[in-house]
Amino acid sequence: MTHLKILTATVLTLLLNSCSDAKTNKEADTPVQTEQKDDALQGFIQQKISDNLYVLKFQNYNTNVGVFIGTESVLLVDPMIGPNNHQLLLKAVKQLSSKPIKYVINTHSHMDHSGANAFYKELGATIISHENAKYSNALYDVTFNDSYSLDMGNETIMLRHSIAHTFDDVLVYFKNNNALFMGDTYMTNSFPHFYYGGGSAGHLGIIDKALAIGNSNTTIVAAHGKLLSSIKDLVTYREHSVNWINRINQLHGEGKTSEEIADDEKINQLSLVFNEGKRVAKQSLQRTIDKTISVETAPQISIPEKTLKDYAGLYQYENGQVDEIIYHDQKLIFRSEGNYIFEIVPLTATKFQLKGQFPNKYLTFDSGRQQFTFFNGDEYLAAIRK
Ligand SMILES: [Zn+2]
Repeated sequence: MTHLKILTATVLTLLLNSCSDAKTNKEADTPVQTEQKDDALQGFIQQKISDNLYVLKFQNYNTNVGVFIGTESVLLVDPMIGPNNHQLLLKAVKQLSSKPIKYVINTHSHMDHSGANAFYKELGATIISHENAKYSNALYDVTFNDSYSLDMGNETIMLRHSIAHTFDDVLVYFKNNNALFMGDTYMTNSFPHFYYGGGSAGHLGIIDKALAIGNSNTTIVAAHGKLLSSIKDLVTYREHSVNWINRINQLHGEGKTSEEIADDEKINQLSLVFNEGKRVAKQSLQRTIDKTISVETAPQISIPEKTLKDYAGLYQYENGQVDEIIYHDQKLIFRSEGNYIFEIVPLTATKFQLKGQFPNKYLTFDSGRQQFTFFNGDEYLAAIRK
C-alpha cells in the first residue's frame, strides 16, 4: 500500500512537469486537413497556415509545434522535448526556412512544450515565457506579466496571459495570419485540463479571452490533437467543458462517488467527445473526475483577508531552500523558484491544501505562523519564517 502511495506521488510529480496524460501520439492524431507527409520532413506531419506560418508534429510525439518565418528570422512555438527529436525538428524547420531561429515562445512551462528551450538557446534563440515560468524547471530568457508584443517585420505576434491550465499560460496570436496558438488550454484529444492553475473558472476564462481575440475566420491551434481547428470548434469545446464541469459538480453535490460519476451516461458521452470518440479506461476517467472534484469543491474554510495576508512571507527549509507565500488576487500562492507554484486553500486556520494536487499535499502552520511543515506527498519538510 505504501508502495502504491509513493508510486502515485511520483506519477503526480511527473505530471506536474508535463501533460503526458494528454496521451501519446500512438492512439491519436488524424488531422482532417490536407497535411503533408514527406520523406524530407523526417517523420513530421506538417500543416501550412500560410507561406510564413506552419504547424509541425512529430509522428511519435504528440505536441503541435508552430513555425513562423519572419522577414529576417524564424520563431518557434513550443518546440517539444526529446534529445533525439531536437535535431529532427531542426531539420524539418530548416526545410521551411534557412533563416536563423531567433525566438522560442512557450505557451506554458510543461516540458512537452519547453523541453527543447536549451537546445534552441544554444543556437542563439531567445526564450519568451510568462513570468511565472520562473517557478518551474523550464529555461527562460524574457518574461512578461500580462501581455507582450513582438514585431517580426511581416507579422505582429501578440502574447496574452491568463492562469488556466497552469500559472504561466500564454495565448500566442499571429495578427496578420489570424491564427491563435492556445497551448494546453485547448486540446482536441483529451479532457479539459485545469488542475494546476486556474480551475474551471480559469479554463473558461482563457477560452473567452481567445474568443475575444479571434473572429469567425481565426485559425485555432490546439497543443495536442488536431493540428488546426476553427473558432466554431472552440465554441463547441467551451460548451462541452461547461457541461462536463456542471455535470460533475451536480453529481458530486448529490453525494455520488467518483466511481458512480464515471458510470453516468452523460459523463461517458462527454468523455467520448473529448477523446476523439475513443472510450478511455474507467480508472482514467475516474481519476480525471477525482481531480476535477478536488479542484472545484475543495472543502475550504473562509479566512478574513487581513488574516490571510499574515501567512505571506519567506520560509526557509533546513537545506537552505527558501519558498515564498504571497497574497495575490484574494488568494494565497505558495511558490518556489525553479520548482513549483500552487494556490493553497485553508482547510483550517493552520492546515492548507495545495490546490489541484490529488492525492493531497499540505502545508501545516504553527499557530503563530512562524513556521510550517510541507507534506509534498512523500515526506514532511519543515520551514521557518525568514
Ligand atoms: Zn501542459
